[in-house]
Amino acid sequence: MKADIHSFESLAALDGEGLRYAVFFTGCPLRCVCCHNPDTWHRSGMEYTSDELYRKLKRYKPYFKNGGGVTFSGGEPLLNAEFINETAAFLQRDGIGYALDTSGSVPLTDTVKSAIDNADMVILDIKYPDAEMYGKYARGDFDTFLKFADYVSDTNKRVWYRTVIIPGINDSDSAVGEYMRLIARWNPPEKYELLAFHTMGFYKYENLGIENPLKNNPPMDKDTLAQLQSYLDGKTR
Ligand code: SF4
Repeated sequence: MKADIHSFESLAALDGEGLRYAVFFTGCPLRCVCCHNPDTWHRSGMEYTSDELYRKLKRYKPYFKNGGGVTFSGGEPLLNAEFINETAAFLQRDGIGYALDTSGSVPLTDTVKSAIDNADMVILDIKYPDAEMYGKYARGDFDTFLKFADYVSDTNKRVWYRTVIIPGINDSDSAVGEYMRLIARWNPPEKYELLAFHTMGFYKYENLGIENPLKNNPPMDKDTLAQLQSYLDGKTR
């Protein structure tokens, strides 16, 4: 089967542990106000069969040491769960594992469950801590996300959480406290990283002729972010 791939990033150490090769799929069910990759929203890009992608990925096997491997990202990679499962079956023969970098905003079908089950780990975006914010700032369905995150926890999958902190939206101790209350329902993550909202993707909205809802927002202040991360880490330890 085939999938549309936006881009690749070799040895992207930040997209999972070890040395990694990230595959960014196109297509996303969300419309996050903070998105810096609106060019991934619609399915278009380089078309690959699972076999073609496998043959490309296996060339990097010598670099996949110390827990490295492939990271499927996007957009939303799990819109292509069947394709990922096919590619992963090829990779498994060569002992190459993969991480899923996902918003968790996809229905929990058997195909999606298989993609989670066979992953080495899941990097899960916790966009917003309640249904109202999730709908308002990501245009997503919170229950769909909760079912996904519940499954990741119930299956004891290794997981990292990530949240983008945006000035004026979720950049307070009380907002971080809401995230803490939410994640208390799941197994503790190996890591929970707060990421700074930035403006580097703003030009893409202009190029695509899409309204940028945060065009007047400043980037997230790094010192405030570090303080929020300390607050979160203090709570999680
Ligand atoms: S899930 Fe990612 S790609 Fe999709 S809208 Fe949100 S930030 Fe953008």
